[in-house]
Amino acid sequence: EDRPVEGPKRVLLAAPRGYCAGVDRAVVAVEKALERYGAPVYVRKQIVHNKHVVSELEARGAIFVEEVDEVPEGSHLVFSAHGVSPMVKEAAAERQLQAIDATCPLVTKVHREATRFAKQNREILLIGHSGHEEVEGTAGHGGDRVTVVNSPEEADTVVVEDPDNVVWLSQTTLSVDETMETVNRLRSRFPNLQNPPSDDICYATQNRQVAIKKVAADADLVIVVGSANSSNSVRLVEVALQHGAKAAYRIDYTDEIKQEWLDGVQTVGVTSGASVPEVLVRQTLETLASAGYTDVSEVETATEDLMFSLPKELRRDLGDCD
Ligand code: SF4
Repeated sequence: EDRPVEGPKRVLLAAPRGYCAGVDRAVVAVEKALERYGAPVYVRKQIVHNKHVVSELEARGAIFVEEVDEVPEGSHLVFSAHGVSPMVKEAAAERQLQAIDATCPLVTKVHREATRFAKQNREILLIGHSGHEEVEGTAGHGGDRVTVVNSPEEADTVVVEDPDNVVWLSQTTLSVDETMETVNRLRSRFPNLQNPPSDDICYATQNRQVAIKKVAADADLVIVVGSANSSNSVRLVEVALQHGAKAAYRIDYTDEIKQEWLDGVQTVGVTSGASVPEVLVRQTLETLASAGYTDVSEVETATEDLMFSLPKELRRDLGDCD
C-alpha cells in the first residue's frame, strides 16, 4: 500500500517503557560484580532477555552459561532476573560457587507463593509459557503440585485431581487481558479456584501494556523495541494489535525497521520492553526522524519510581549496610 501521508508525520512515545526495577537491579548486579571480583563473572542464562545488554556485559567480562555445571568450581555466578528453582541453587552450592541471586524480588514473591501453596498440598495452576526460565524457576518451587497452563485454550482441558483445592499463579510478564481470560475459563470449570494473594503480573508489565493500549489507539504502526525471547516485549506487540494499531513489529535494533512498514503511515507508536535500555529507543527515534517523523510526543499513563536494593551477597561484599 503506497499512500501519500497527509498531515505531519508524528511519533507517540509510550511511557512507561523500558527498564523496570528488577532489570535495572540485575544488570547493575553484574556490573558491580565485575568491578568487585574482576572478570570473569559467570551468569546463568541471559541476565535479562535483551541481546544488546547481554553483548555489552560479555564485552566487559561476563560469561553467560546455560547451566551451573559449566562454571568452574569456586567462581562467582549470578542467577538471572527470571529466577531459578531450588535445585539450581543446590547445584551451585555443591559446586562451591559464590552465588549472587539477581532474581527480581517480584519473581521471588511468586516463588514464595508456590512454595507455600505446595506445602499446603494445594494444586497450583501456573499460567505462563512452558520453557520460559521464569516458569521453570517458579514451577521448581511448587514441585509436583504445579501444572503449567499455557493459554486460554489449555484452561478448557487441564486436568486437576480435586477442583476444590486449586489455586492459580502466573508468570510476571503475561498479557493482563489474556491471563484474565484464562482465569475466567478455569473458573467456569473450577468455581472454587483460589486467586493468588496479590497480582503476580508485575507493575512494570501492567504499566507498559496500559501505555501501549493508549498509543495504539492512535497509531498506524507500533514499533516495540525488545528481543524475541523477551516475554513482556512480545506481549506488547500483541496488545498493540488488539488495541487499534494497524501493524506492530518488534525489533532488537533500529536497522531492522523496513521502509515499507512506513508506507502511508502518519503516526508511529514506539515503546520498549522492560529489559530494553533507553539508548535503543533513542536510536529508533533517530531513524524515524530521518524518515520525517520529527514530531515526537510522549503519552504517559503512569510514573514509576520503584527501585530495588542490590542482591544481599553483593551488598555484603561491597561493604554497603542498610
Ligand atoms: Fe521484575 Fe517485572 Fe521487571 Fe520482571 S518485568 S524483572 S518481574 S519488575
